[in-house]
Amino acid sequence: MAARGGAGALLALAVTLVLAGCGSAEPVARPLLPTPPQTVFSPEPQTASPSPSPSPSVLAVPTPAATPLATAVPTPSATPSTTAVAPLVVLDPGHSGKSISSTDAASGLRDIDYPNYPEIYEMFDISVCVGKGLRADGYRVALTKTKALDSVGLVARAKIANDAKAALAVSVHDDHSQGPAFQATYSQRGIRHDGDYHAMYRGTGSKRTVFSDAEVAQASEKAAEAIARERTKAQGRTVGVRENTYTGRAPLEPGNLAIVQLLAKVPWVYNEAGAKSGGSTTKAMSIATEEAYAKGLLVGVEAAVPLPAGAVSQPSAGVQQLKQCLTTAATPGDGRVDRPARYRPSGS
Ligand SMILES: [Zn+2]
Repeated sequence: MAARGGAGALLALAVTLVLAGCGSAEPVARPLLPTPPQTVFSPEPQTASPSPSPSPSVLAVPTPAATPLATAVPTPSATPSTTAVAPLVVLDPGHSGKSISSTDAASGLRDIDYPNYPEIYEMFDISVCVGKGLRADGYRVALTKTKALDSVGLVARAKIANDAKAALAVSVHDDHSQGPAFQATYSQRGIRHDGDYHAMYRGTGSKRTVFSDAEVAQASEKAAEAIARERTKAQGRTVGVRENTYTGRAPLEPGNLAIVQLLAKVPWVYNEAGAKSGGSTTKAMSIATEEAYAKGLLVGVEAAVPLPAGAVSQPSAGVQQLKQCLTTAATPGDGRVDRPARYRPSGS
């Protein structure tokens, strides 16, 4: 698995995804995408931890000090009085371009992921555009993939956020097996059951791994609540803070916390959005639906992690560029050739 994982896990962060600017025609809704390889099911599996050796060495995540990762953050000299650096947000677009199945040496947990269409494209677009918006509003941003079909295991994704010392990491998923009434955020703290929180974990026996950082768990819970609140407003649907379950979903490790969140040392919020449309589990989201989800995520992140200078006024510049960004997000070379030409950037 090491060799395989190593080959696939070659990326690090998408520091700056400069999207080709804009087209003109504004498609209203995306048509059906051709049926891809293997659309897997429904609830979001998310797990796994790639093999130990591949990820660490490959994912050279710049340290905050070494590389300001993107946005033009004012240097200390430029702003004598304010040395505070803008928060770094890691955006984690759901799924791997190729199926991954390996074992995390540290925990013994299986790191399993797979391509999931059309989710993998939709969530990449949304993550790229939310990232662009956050940068426009003054944040630093890193993505766990540089292209929609990059293959990155779950352990590697967690490592990216950990190494970058992210103020917040956000996984972005949708679920075409569930209708739009299903909208959720998940934190590393879980929810109360009869007044008490349960252990958040994955695996059984000697592999059982429990999330034990109470401070991070609480920060994650607060962020999950903030994002749920803003998503509810933006999407016009109730987004609940929930607890997931992976039990009975072999080969996924049993438990109640996504692997990326379990292995994270930073607050991490995992998002799901029901996207079944017209009875179809493969029909792509409309741009309007993508925009609403993206807006909720963007405003939610900004509410959860304010800038040192204070909260960003809404609707921010970042929010205002979302629609155009999503309409023109497709980049050639990442496997999106299946998408209709009018969804590709002009000139491609
Ligand atoms: Zn997913």
